[in-house]
Amino acid sequence: MIVGIIGGGQLARMLALASHPLGVRCLFLDPAPDACARSVGELVLGGYDDPVLLDQIARRAQVVTYEFENVPASSLQYLASHIAVHPAALALQVARDRWHEKQLFAELGIPTPRFMPVDSQADLEAAVTAIGLPAVLKTRTLGYDGKGQWVLRTPADLTDALAALGGAPLILEGFVPFDRELSVIAVRSLTGDTRFYPLNENIHKGGVLVQSISRPSDKMTARAEDYARRLLDRLGYVGVLALELFQQGDRLFANEMAPRVHNSGHWTIEGAETSQFENHMRAILGLPLGSTAPIGHAGMVNFVGSPPDTAQVLSVPGAHMHVYGKEARPGRKLGHATVRARDEKDLMQALSRLRALACS
Ligand code: AMP
Repeated sequence: MIVGIIGGGQLARMLALASHPLGVRCLFLDPAPDACARSVGELVLGGYDDPVLLDQIARRAQVVTYEFENVPASSLQYLASHIAVHPAALALQVARDRWHEKQLFAELGIPTPRFMPVDSQADLEAAVTAIGLPAVLKTRTLGYDGKGQWVLRTPADLTDALAALGGAPLILEGFVPFDRELSVIAVRSLTGDTRFYPLNENIHKGGVLVQSISRPSDKMTARAEDYARRLLDRLGYVGVLALELFQQGDRLFANEMAPRVHNSGHWTIEGAETSQFENHMRAILGLPLGSTAPIGHAGMVNFVGSPPDTAQVLSVPGAHMHVYGKEARPGRKLGHATVRARDEKDLMQALSRLRALACS
């Protein structure tokens, strides 16, 4: 069995690692010769829109998936006309554009921060008048890890923000003074079997995820799962989907969705009966889904910019190291550690030691 994956980064690498025991081989399409998935599968080197390479993947793979949102729509259409592509193109079209995404949330009755499209200075002024400050101005497409966004706190910020982001279609969102950031990770099979991992409580710094904690009996679980299920059913979704949420009091606001495995679910590698990576592969291959039940208390710390010493990480009780094999660069995600502990106290202690190592 061969699975084609558009993108050869760490998510593709972890998908391949999880599916190897199932007898699945992966082909990664990526323009970077040093794409980090190459050490665990076959790298098809070239552009995401190269017709010869797309054709090669369509001929060799049984199913195609992707590890990021900015796959050219035409590439996916081409692949989908030859072989199965999961999740389907509609999910990708929605997720790649914050305006379409928030409109879908609103249509499905999923609360969001207030939002308006912005294409000019006049639009921005009108949106700020309607939504108020503080607010967040974001590019509609291509933003990730906090890139392509600007928090507006005073009217003086408007000019700087437009100068920095201008030219691209934008969206203005009300700033949510959230108590917590949460994400729910769901998986849906070809037959509609749907399962949820425990909610993740996430901490971001400068827009980049630094820590996730699995919260198995969180009081917001039922609502978060209800919102995710509305999306899965509406999109006829197959695979893993992540929905990022802000909690303010007893309310949840949807921030964004990711039609793929998600950084906040990396703890599932050691902390759940079946990891998000294996379940994504099971779903797209039409195999029975595995249990999403947690094992113990689990969490994850990201290593960004420079990786800590492996021996030091592994000296933290319950810690497991995951290094992606990428060249170190400031702001780049290079690896993560997952922790599994027998109780909350041990988990929090381990996470704080790992956070200290991640910053050292
Ligand atoms: P995003 O790229 O939309 O996931 O944003 C990255 C991070 O910026 C989020 O995880 C939040 O910490 C923060 N952020 C984004 N949008 C908002 C918002 N409307 N209100 C408050 N914080 C936000």
